[in-house]
Amino acid sequence: MKFTELNLAENILQAVEKAGFVEPSPIQEMTIPLALEGKDVIGQAQTGTGKTAAFGLPTLNKIDTANNVIQALVIAPTRELAVQSQEELFRFGREKGVKVRSVYGGSSIEKQIKALRSGAHIVVGTPGRLLDLIKRRALKLNTVETLILDEADEMLNMGFLEDIEAIISHVPNERQTLLFSATMPDAIKRIGVKFMKDPEHVRIAAKELTSDMVEQFYVRVKEREKFDTMTRLIDVEQPELSIVFGRTKRRVDELTRGLKLRGYRAEGIHGDLDQNKRLRVIRDFKNDNLDILVATDVAARGLDISGVTHVYNYDIPQDPESYVHRIGRTGRAGKSGQSITFVSPNEMGYLSIIENLTKKRMKGLKPATADEAFQAKKQVALKKIERDFADESIRSNFDKFKGDAVKLAAEFSPEELALYILSLTVQDPETMPEVEISRERPLPFKPSGSNHGKGSRGNNNRRGSRDRYRRDNAGNGRREFKRKSNKNFKDFDKKDNKRPHRTSSEKKNGFVIRNKGDR
Ligand code: ADP
Ligand code: MG
Repeated sequence: MKFTELNLAENILQAVEKAGFVEPSPIQEMTIPLALEGKDVIGQAQTGTGKTAAFGLPTLNKIDTANNVIQALVIAPTRELAVQSQEELFRFGREKGVKVRSVYGGSSIEKQIKALRSGAHIVVGTPGRLLDLIKRRALKLNTVETLILDEADEMLNMGFLEDIEAIISHVPNERQTLLFSATMPDAIKRIGVKFMKDPEHVRIAAKELTSDMVEQFYVRVKEREKFDTMTRLIDVEQPELSIVFGRTKRRVDELTRGLKLRGYRAEGIHGDLDQNKRLRVIRDFKNDNLDILVATDVAARGLDISGVTHVYNYDIPQDPESYVHRIGRTGRAGKSGQSITFVSPNEMGYLSIIENLTKKRMKGLKPATADEAFQAKKQVALKKIERDFADESIRSNFDKFKGDAVKLAAEFSPEELALYILSLTVQDPETMPEVEISRERPLPFKPSGSNHGKGSRGNNNRRGSRDRYRRDNAGNGRREFKRKSNKNFKDFDKKDNKRPHRTSSEKKNGFVIRNKGDR
């Protein structure tokens, strides 16, 4: 299908074409016609499937630019998402001359009031700031014709339900309401019933959405050994660009501090950081000035970042759909990726629950030893030395040290000097700074998703001894091990084998859009 078949106005289509969009994503294809008809729509699709344009294009289409009042309101959970939506709406509404403003906390309210006064057809905002502006009478919503709740599940997770209800009470009842969300818990369905009129549900199934491009691993590890286990794996893997997910803000802070202490180029983002700092971190990450981004689910949700090679789930997510979103940050745009999930023995049941959703089995990975990590770091250092010596711009710096070098060479043997360089460049596991990560309570015990205790993992202490470890020498040196098959999985494994190719509808549902950076 082409965008031109969607009955959008010419000036919107031009902007869509300019943006390089060729065909609508499934969620767009299915929701745009409904929204254009004026229906209330609930749209559910995974992160990165183009939900912004799904509500944005029909909304922009409807705006009457001759009427200088607020005609649409978008409520979004975080500042970043509000800004991202505003940018996307601006981009598509530009030809038509639609004015889009964003308002969010952590940034001057006076400036935002000024911007609103200068005119707005669409306002995108976070709940707290919107309420603030309403209270100050700087924002009047009585002319709103379209109300959009974006990333509704995140807004609920963040406890915004009451705020949202308060905001909606200022919007006329006679309106069109669109709700978009990556997941659809009951609480959201209730919002649909309460605030929408006969909404049409569109759901692009998430279960096919763990891409085949992502290799999924798990590491069974005790809580207090997690951090060392993770950094050793990072040393062995040498990921180009990775995201580490932590369950709480404190986790993110502590992990970031720990990673930096051990010399990694890492920064963290979560909801408590001020706006500038968060934007700076994200920019640094996109520009390759950082190797590791540490984030909570919420902070990373919806961020448009490409090129991530590894996702480390320091904490296993409680909600299996969060897992899908997390690992969807890698393996994008035809590139392969890896996800590694750390699971404490007590949390093994969650692994099965996730696998039952994704219909893919994670491979067990044996933790790397301190020595393996050390050897890997040494290899990196040796390669770097070789590379640097071949680099004229680095060699040209040598001149400054000529006299000193001659002196050193007279005093020490070449071998001693080399030893000294290596000991400076490669961090010794013995002298590595200790990192303490506060204990988080593990998730409540859950028997594995198969609901039959026998043969399931997690609640079975003998399981470890039954795992057959296997060194994968042919591959990248990963120590994978085979697990005793669990009944559930045999079922779909078999089915999978019968289906060598995915059907076209599955392919379609698996549609995940390329990122700006990938084009
Ligand atoms: P979601 O809200 O579902 O997480 P976004 O709306 O943020 O997804 O879209 C993710 C990325 O995909 C953005 O960079 C967006 O510009 C791009 N995008 C959206 N729709 C299309 C399309 N039809 N073709 C190509 N790229 C698209
Ligand atoms: Mg979105």
